[in-house]
Amino acid sequence: MNICELCAEQAKKSRNGKPHEYLTKLDEPRIFKGKGPRGFEEQDYQCLTCNAKFTWSTDKNDLSWTLWQG
Ligand SMILES: [Zn+2]
Repeated sequence: MNICELCAEQAKKSRNGKPHEYLTKLDEPRIFKGKGPRGFEEQDYQCLTCNAKFTWSTDKNDLSWTLWQG
């Protein structure tokens, strides 16, 4: 699967990095409670240009921006 340049950059972004302009939210954020004082949150995104999917997570044990290949 070929991903667009913006998605290639996105995969390197930190947890505080904003989704690029063609990433749209796929559904509601998933809130996980009970892990640390504030829990953590995940959000799925899909790119309108290349259809790459990302999951953004605030869990510090995970990658901030996980790219799902094909
Ligand atoms: Zn893309």
